[in-house]
Amino acid sequence: MYVDFLLIGQGICGTFLSRELQKAGYSFLVIDEARDDTASKVAAGIINPVTGRRIVKTWMIDEVMPFALQQYADLEKLLQITAIEQKDIVDFFPTPQMKHAFAKRYEEDTQYLSLQGDPEIWKDHFNYDFGYGTITPCYLVNLPVLLPAYRRYLKAANHLLEENFDSTLLQVEKEKIHYKGITAQAIIFCDGIASFNSPWFSMLPFAPNKGEVLLVEAAGMPTQHIFKKGINWVPWRENIFWVGSSYEWQFNSDQPTDAFRERTMASLQQWIKAPVKLLDHKASVRPATIERRPFVGFHPAYPAIGIFNGMGTKGCSLAPWFAPQLVQHIQHGQPLQPEAAIKRFQRMLGKK
Ligand SMILES: Cc1cc2nc3c(=O)[nH]c(=O)nc-3n(C[C@H](O)[C@H](O)[C@H](O)COP(=O)(O)OP(=O)(O)OC[C@H]3O[C@@H](n4cnc5c(N)ncnc54)[C@H](O)[C@@H]3O)c2cc1C
Repeated sequence: MYVDFLLIGQGICGTFLSRELQKAGYSFLVIDEARDDTASKVAAGIINPVTGRRIVKTWMIDEVMPFALQQYADLEKLLQITAIEQKDIVDFFPTPQMKHAFAKRYEEDTQYLSLQGDPEIWKDHFNYDFGYGTITPCYLVNLPVLLPAYRRYLKAANHLLEENFDSTLLQVEKEKIHYKGITAQAIIFCDGIASFNSPWFSMLPFAPNKGEVLLVEAAGMPTQHIFKKGINWVPWRENIFWVGSSYEWQFNSDQPTDAFRERTMASLQQWIKAPVKLLDHKASVRPATIERRPFVGFHPAYPAIGIFNGMGTKGCSLAPWFAPQLVQHIQHGQPLQPEAAIKRFQRMLGKK
């Protein structure tokens, strides 16, 4: 069997890259093993235009956010689903210092921030002492609907092999690859944290970051916003909320921990007025990078091997932005954005 491209992984990266290849008229096959706790399946799906304690603008957000909206609209039309919704973040200040930091940022730049609003409006549902600000617009990608719907679409069109990819069976030539009877002009790894141990890409400066989340049930809570007080309270399904997440650079295990569950349930008891019932507890590792920039492009020593990875905490906004760039690069030789192109590690990769 011949395809133009073989892709490994159908997380958010493999989803957008395969869609872009299809739009450009390439043939492709995606190999993805159905695993439960991959980053895209555990993620909330938030696109937040500001970041960190200092509430600074997220990298490239002015361009990336409107573009991502168009990309999700394309998938909505293709799959007949709701892929994304605006859900602004109500940011309850956990301390007077955080209130001050938000007010200071607001004085400097009001884009994406609001301090207007009835101070009492959320008091029926949440305990808070230091007021709140609103981050607007924010979006929530409907990952639990989008990823399975796209998977069904790929499967129906015979574009998906649901199995483990075994790198020892890959044969690489200069301008093509062979894998178990499949020949392609290139293979592109969209395999998330699996690339940390890749024979071709493990030397890239990845920085695994673990996140734990709870899924909880609570009746009668508002669902039009995401709420935040140190952790995020995200409307998920009817009366079900995604709560998280931790953000750990050092960890001994990739599994959920008692410490996170106990700490988070205790803070929910203080914060949420309705009774909260724990339904599930998950953990996953973000394919983050030391420089906090993606890894996109083809291996300098093996031009038939590519990577689309390293989206860190921002897969939902960066994957839709960089997937067409990579396809334009393939199709017309257009240069990739230098901050994301793996060409910046040419010397390191060339040694392999
Ligand atoms: C707790 C948490 C919360 C997050 N919240 C957000 C958020 O709100 N907003 C946001 O933008 N980002 C968020 N992220 C980050 C986001 O999840 C990642 O940026 C994104 O999911 C990375 O997608 P990916 O496609 O690169 O990797 P993955 O989602 O890991 O996909 C890789 C795929 O490759 C498959 N695969 C790997 N190896 C093989 C193999 N050998 N054979 C077959 N298949 C294979 C896996 O099964 C998987 O399906 C969060 C992450 C975590 C952990």
